[in-house]
Amino acid sequence: MSSRPAAAQSQFKNLRASSLYCPKCKNAMPVRERLLLVLPDKEIYDYLCTGCAGSVGQREVTSADKLMTAAATARRPAPRSSLLLP
Ligand SMILES: [Zn+2]
Repeated sequence: MSSRPAAAQSQFKNLRASSLYCPKCKNAMPVRERLLLVLPDKEIYDYLCTGCAGSVGQREVTSADKLMTAAATARRPAPRSSLLLP
C-alpha cells in the first residue's frame, strides 16, 4: 500500500501564463495582474506589461465569473462510483 501525492501536484496547475499585446513593446508580452479596484459585486484587474510596466488592458471579474473560473480550472476526473443517480 502506498499513498500518491496527487493533491500536492495539483496546485501548480493554477499558474496562469498570460500574455497580451503591448503597443509600446510591439510584441505579445507577459503581463502582471494587479488588483485595481474592488467593488461590491466585482473586482477590476489591471494588466501591466512586464517589459515597460505600462498598462495593456483591464479585466472585470464578477462573482459569477469567479465561480465559472473555479469550476473550469478545478476540472478533475470524477470518480465513476459517484455517477449513480439518487
Ligand atoms: Zn510593454
